[in-house]
Amino acid sequence: DVPVPGKVSTRFDLEKETELRFEVEAGEAAEQVELELLTGMGEVFGSELNRNKKYTFGPGSKIAVFTWQGCSVNLYGKPEVAYVSKDTPMLLYLNTHAALEQMRKQAERDNERGPRVMVVGPTDVGKSTVCRLLLSYAVRVGRRPTLVELDVGQSGVSVPGTVSALCIERPADVEEGFSVQAPLVYHFGSTTPGTNIKLYNKLTSCLAEVFSQRCEGNRKASVGGCIINTCGWVKGSGYQALVHCASAFEVDVVLVLDHERLYNELKRDLPHFVRVVLLPKSGGVVERSKECRRDTRDEKIREYFYGFRGLTFYPFSYEVRFADVRIYKIGAPSIPDSCLPLGMSQDDTQLKLVPVTPGRDLTYHVLSVSSAEDGEEGARKGIVESPVCGFIVVTNVDTQTQVMKVLSPAPRPLPRHTLLIMDIRFMDMK
Ligand code: ATP
Repeated sequence: DVPVPGKVSTRFDLEKETELRFEVEAGEAAEQVELELLTGMGEVFGSELNRNKKYTFGPGSKIAVFTWQGCSVNLYGKPEVAYVSKDTPMLLYLNTHAALEQMRKQAERDNERGPRVMVVGPTDVGKSTVCRLLLSYAVRVGRRPTLVELDVGQSGVSVPGTVSALCIERPADVEEGFSVQAPLVYHFGSTTPGTNIKLYNKLTSCLAEVFSQRCEGNRKASVGGCIINTCGWVKGSGYQALVHCASAFEVDVVLVLDHERLYNELKRDLPHFVRVVLLPKSGGVVERSKECRRDTRDEKIREYFYGFRGLTFYPFSYEVRFADVRIYKIGAPSIPDSCLPLGMSQDDTQLKLVPVTPGRDLTYHVLSVSSAEDGEEGARKGIVESPVCGFIVVTNVDTQTQVMKVLSPAPRPLPRHTLLIMDIRFMDMK
């Protein structure tokens, strides 16, 4: 009998309050790495591991297994790196959770609302990870917090180019993150807020308003509060967008990761009752290159259409007549003030719906299907503030027959006929 070649297994014995960090090689051909908890207790970004269960991590994963009491784990396969670190800010993060939980308890007692927390910092400081940790800890003690995702470049909730909100009802899955069911998603259209800061601020306000309304009718959501993940752009208009977000959501706490100047600026510019806290970043957070970010964005769109891991979706491909849809871009190119029509300001141009005439250059663009009621001119007004009900990708345009072919998660017909174009493209290699 020829023995079946198994994966190399490496055992790690972790002392209490230490973490095992490992990275899986990137690239399609890379081998997955499996993780198994053998003894003790351990968690991955706030979600507890079950004993004797193998967790699989695909190419490019960057993972930390932290243990409060000590544990031993096995890694199967060949991670690109794997090392144990004693130096982690987890105790500070746990204390932050404990402080937020105190605020929730007090909110419950006094019939007030729970903490609204904004997590800020430059790119690659672990903002998304801290959000995930705080949300998972909160649900683990029975809370129902809301994740507000304002990172249009690397959204954890929907496809890139969107902002969204998601009610968290169970801890993140160790392998897959939070279960994304029924998120509230708005179309932004590009991967950086800078392309249309007015729209970005407007959508932040929309999310804040919807969240506040939900809190009025739902005590658990109100006490649970929210954790807001933001973009890594912390200068100029990016900074102003953070200040705007703090005021729109009336945040109580701002967690600044690893950026002293930003901390000081926010302390200076936000009202005194907002608690601004400076936290260190974890040494484990891995810097991601531009390419890596682009790949992650692509992967997110692919997942939307094709599913991931055990869940496979079968998207549909069909033709849509130009005459049956209305395609808009939000925001007209800015023009000098002196050329603006009387009574119009630059703000108006950034939020304006510009009709797009379908042409070849539409190919590969991601389009959001707006939930706004189909209708003529009158209905146009609400489109910017209407959530999105799904996404399609244009795979081919035939200007002769006035038809475009689209990739869609659902069979025809389109649920609505107002489409918003994104700067983002997706080439379907399947
Ligand atoms: P950006 O704003 O640029 O999108 P971010 O600040 O939100 O980034 P994260 O996405 O939280 O950063 O983290 C970057 C990467 O580092 C992720 O792949 C995450 O899994 C990994 N990571 C975070 N913390 C650790 C850790 N302690 N050990 C190992 N990897 C980690």
